[in-house]
Amino acid sequence: MENCIFCKIAAGQIPSKKVYEDNELLAFHDINPAAPVHFLIIPKAHIATLADCNASHEGLLGRMMALAPKLAEELGCGVKGLGAEATGGFKSLINTGPDGGQEVYHLHLHVMGGSRPWAGQR
Ligand code: 5GP
Ligand code: ZN
Repeated sequence: MENCIFCKIAAGQIPSKKVYEDNELLAFHDINPAAPVHFLIIPKAHIATLADCNASHEGLLGRMMALAPKLAEELGCGVKGLGAEATGGFKSLINTGPDGGQEVYHLHLHVMGGSRPWAGQR
């Protein structure tokens, strides 16, 4: 997609701090991190928003979600321990549309972890 910043990142035309890449997905650090660890998981193929997804995207969306804890673990914000004894962890977020706070119209899953900058917020 022309003039899509994340398509350009996926194509290597704009540099990014890469976390993970396979033939379908790319993960890279957010340029303006909201947490000590903040990266984005995107499909390489252009999809504007989550609202543009349908049943044919279920596998892709599942692989994006399943990748989040794996990469969070690698970047030091995985969950350690079980149940009430657990420490660590991260938020996973997809902003969708203007009222959802979406700024870049190429589907992306935010993964944010570290020292809980949102503590006290919902
Ligand atoms: P949204 O508000 O659309 O859910 O989030 C877009 C995110 O993309 C923001 O957190 C913003 O900091 C990040 N972002 C925007 N442009 C770039 C860029 O060129 N490179 C990287 N790495 N992140 C970007
Ligand atoms: Zn795109």
